[in-house]
Amino acid sequence: MNFDYSETQQQIRSLVREFVINEVAPGAEHRDRTEEFDYGLWKKLGELGIIGINLPEEVGGSGGDFLSFNLAVEEISRVDLSLGVTLLVAEGAARIVLPEALESKPAWKDKYIRPIVRGEAFGAMGITEPEAGSDTANIQTYAVLDGDEWVINGSKAFITNAGLKNCLFVAAVLLTDRAKREFSVILVPTGTPGYTMEPKYRKMSWRSSDTRELHFDDCRVPAENLVGKRGEGRGRVVVAVFSKLRIVSGSSALGLHQGCIDESLKYAKERMAFGRPIGKNQYVQGMLCEMVLEAEMGRLLRDKAATLADQVKEGEVASMYLASLVKWFCCDAANRAAYSAVQIHGGLGIMDECPVSRYYRDARVWTIGDGTAEIQKLIVARELGL
Ligand SMILES: Cc1cc2nc3c(=O)[nH]c(=O)nc-3n(C[C@H](O)[C@H](O)[C@H](O)COP(=O)(O)OP(=O)(O)OC[C@H]3O[C@@H](n4cnc5c(N)ncnc54)[C@H](O)[C@@H]3O)c2cc1C
Repeated sequence: MNFDYSETQQQIRSLVREFVINEVAPGAEHRDRTEEFDYGLWKKLGELGIIGINLPEEVGGSGGDFLSFNLAVEEISRVDLSLGVTLLVAEGAARIVLPEALESKPAWKDKYIRPIVRGEAFGAMGITEPEAGSDTANIQTYAVLDGDEWVINGSKAFITNAGLKNCLFVAAVLLTDRAKREFSVILVPTGTPGYTMEPKYRKMSWRSSDTRELHFDDCRVPAENLVGKRGEGRGRVVVAVFSKLRIVSGSSALGLHQGCIDESLKYAKERMAFGRPIGKNQYVQGMLCEMVLEAEMGRLLRDKAATLADQVKEGEVASMYLASLVKWFCCDAANRAAYSAVQIHGGLGIMDECPVSRYYRDARVWTIGDGTAEIQKLIVARELGL
């Protein structure tokens, strides 16, 4: 067993870290305050090859491994979780489209995937609806074939990235007959008539990440926009989203967790109380030691899950059990770390200009989005035969 990252993984981590320190960190607080997305930053992520680290060269990616992509998301989320989430969702959407682009619809490479990899476009994925959150099987949005077009009707809630310019929306829908419940996936590019969206939600967390409610009113897309075969959508979502993306979500939480350690360690050494740095007190040391322990545990679990997921053939399901353990543990641990980070900063930790106050708000989504902590435990319990 080798616990060292490969030379390439270390190089990628250093490259992303340097970019994050120089380009991402300086504006993170401003973007959070103004709730603005920085398109220039996205373009630079594309130019550096970060978006396509784990996508094949045929679609403009670097063909790197899955763990490297996780390390990149972790480093970005160490200072700006909103950007980390934008990245993992856009890459995940491209991943859903990838098998078709490689096998039967080569035009999709240039049309959809390459622009995302270059940082010129975005991807969004939508399962959640006003009446279907954890219970994903209860979606009601449906599409009927009319000649050579699908006509889509319904709504989606809490969708990340969809409001960004030039975003391909990968929508989970039922086909033709709601009663048959043929869960499928359809592509809807921004600007398609009948596809509208509400203004951005005002959120407690991830403020510079775009989240919207979407509506489809007789929205027509070409028949070829169906991803995979009719009724195969659930498999696609399970493969790409649940068994892999949840590991990346865990990585972004791990990044925020590390950000909490970075800030708290620095502050514990600088801040004086009772004539000595607060870090000399055992209670403060205890908080930092627990933060470090849980980050190490999360990283071991994530590294194992990401390495094993990489060995699974593209298009097949990696371990749902491991992905859920990573998502659950890393996201819960990040919340505990953010709580301690604010505590260590005292009153300053409550102030907007202090990074850990943003980390505290941002961490909160992660026990809910991409499957709640309870749903992850349900998956683990099922694996245990309960
Ligand atoms: C900022 C943000 C961004 C998001 N981005 C996206 C996106 O891009 N695409 C997308 O499709 N969705 C997105 N979501 C939606 C997210 O995935 C859902 O909010 C989440 O799956 C939970 O669904 P819900 O909010 O309807 O809660 P509900 O399903 O109503 O759950 C409410 C509570 O009940 C619990 N619960 C429900 N069922 C069970 C059960 N069987 N056992 C135990 N407890 C249970 C839940 O764990 C939770 O605590 C986003 C959400 C947020 C907040």
